[in-house]
Amino acid sequence: MGIKAEVMMKALMKYEKGKHNFACRELPVPEPGKDDVLVKVAYGGICGTDIHIYHDTYPNEPPMVIGHEFSGTVVKLGENAGRFKAGDRVVAETNQYYCGVCELCKAGRFCLCNQRLALGQKTDGVFAEYAVIKESNLHVIGDHVSMKEAALAEPLSCVVHGVMERSNIEAGDIVLVTGPGPIGLLAVMTAAMQGAKVIVSGTSADADRLKLAEELGAFRTVNVMQEDLQAIVAEETGGKGVDVVLECSGVGAAISSGIDALKKLGIFTQIGLTGKSSQIETDKLCFKEIDYKGCLSKTNWSWNRTIRIINSGSLPLGKLISHEFSLDQWEEAMKHAEENIGNKVFFRIGGDA
Ligand SMILES: [Zn+2]
Ligand SMILES: [Zn+2]
Repeated sequence: MGIKAEVMMKALMKYEKGKHNFACRELPVPEPGKDDVLVKVAYGGICGTDIHIYHDTYPNEPPMVIGHEFSGTVVKLGENAGRFKAGDRVVAETNQYYCGVCELCKAGRFCLCNQRLALGQKTDGVFAEYAVIKESNLHVIGDHVSMKEAALAEPLSCVVHGVMERSNIEAGDIVLVTGPGPIGLLAVMTAAMQGAKVIVSGTSADADRLKLAEELGAFRTVNVMQEDLQAIVAEETGGKGVDVVLECSGVGAAISSGIDALKKLGIFTQIGLTGKSSQIETDKLCFKEIDYKGCLSKTNWSWNRTIRIINSGSLPLGKLISHEFSLDQWEEAMKHAEENIGNKVFFRIGGDA
């Protein structure tokens, strides 16, 4: 049972190992395996990971369709995929395969399984008109939620994990978010929703993004090229330093100024990837007994929480999306995402129809 799918589809692929090697191609519409569903993709969001895959600075196994952030509609069900029906509006977790028996899987940390095959990284992803998704990864979104906002579920689930599970941010905390890119702005919204007072730092190139951060709930924004971040943090915290730093830029200078801005015993959560080895002044971590944490994955808890947040409409997610391109315009789209032109860059694939 299902809505009739077409035979061929457009897809953005990495066709060969190495740098670049992206192309928009015509591929046969895939058949769902028995535990999968076929989804007609509405929107796909470009993530830093996709840019790293383009430059070959993040593990990837071509040939594959890229992309892992999306929203879409179920069109066809595999033999055992009985929990959903054609027409369901869905988003999905990105673990297309995990072993299920290692220590990490048993603890529910599928994203960290050594055998994991991630969507659009080691298996075919979602920057295509149709995508095959493992049924157990799917989440249904409310009818009142726009497909566009829903396509932010995956990055929001990372941020919910970073803000709530890794950093335990709660009302009364003073939080510094470094780097107002899409992940940084999602972190601003989520930390503000938790009741934290949020300071956001960026550079002159971030002028518009810093303005948007204020609209999204930041208490104060700092252009580090024009203002003294440490003096402002001291002023806002009575000289103690912030309780939590959410480092979302992946830039070395922001990492060290974040460490300087943090209070003794503070939590520093590294969300941005640098794409290279970076030098951290580890003595400063010791002197302040800083809890320096990495954050990359998601959990089932953060996904469930994310779906509830999206359905509640409590975050103005739509404000984050600045550009929409077709799959044919992938070069321009990647350029916008890479050069931080605007905010979140989307592929409009099937759209809301
Ligand atoms: Zn992502
Ligand atoms: Zn495992």
